[in-house]
Amino acid sequence: MICANIAHLRGRIAETARKSGRNPDDIQLLAVSKNMTVEKIEEARQCGQKMFGENFIQEAQAKIEHCDPSIVWHFIGHLQSNKAKQAARLFQLIETVDRLKLAQALNRHAAHYGKILDILIQVNVGQEKQKSGIPPQGAEQLIRETRKLEHLRIRGLMTIPPYADNPELSRPYFRILKKLADEFSKKGYFTNKAPLILSMGMSADYTVAVEEGATLVRVGTAIFGNRI
Ligand SMILES: *Cc1c(COP(=O)(O)O)cnc(C)c1O
Repeated sequence: MICANIAHLRGRIAETARKSGRNPDDIQLLAVSKNMTVEKIEEARQCGQKMFGENFIQEAQAKIEHCDPSIVWHFIGHLQSNKAKQAARLFQLIETVDRLKLAQALNRHAAHYGKILDILIQVNVGQEKQKSGIPPQGAEQLIRETRKLEHLRIRGLMTIPPYADNPELSRPYFRILKKLADEFSKKGYFTNKAPLILSMGMSADYTVAVEEGATLVRVGTAIFGNRI
């Protein structure tokens, strides 16, 4: 089932990319494995899936050490500064950096581990009060400060649009993130040694996200089924 789901997703991502005049190879699939067992993660890995996303540090810690070391792990949940140390150790990329204090903590711990940690800046494009992410108007300032931290490498932007049951309603938010990313790219804010990452789109709206320029879609339910 998991293999068939992944194959189906990859097919739809590729088809949507081609229809939008994009190269399918420019879009990565992140398998969101929160609440899923090590066995299910291994099943997905054996179908060729290499990147996985987790939302909770404790859960990730318990699972990652039992998973194949070839897996690339992204942290996609809300990150408290007091968990930055474990995050810097366990993950290759933190998608949810939304404040300087957190960036500084990650930088300090990445230095301690002797690594350069890839990060994305999470933008709260919908400006929802209850949601993590820096509001769009604060993103530039945060990026300018974070760029000075030598053990972090800003790879791009990430967003979670307001919840909607119609994927079309996510489109304007994806557009805003893409526009911001283009603007910041022009200013040379992101590393130019690796392709820019635009992380947007989940099970319900990943095709819309691909149409609007996503280079990474984060998909859980459509791979593993419902979480409960
Ligand atoms: C859970 C989660 C996803 C995956 O959601 P699905 O609807 O199951 O695909 C993607 N991104 C983030 C940030 C998540 O927390």
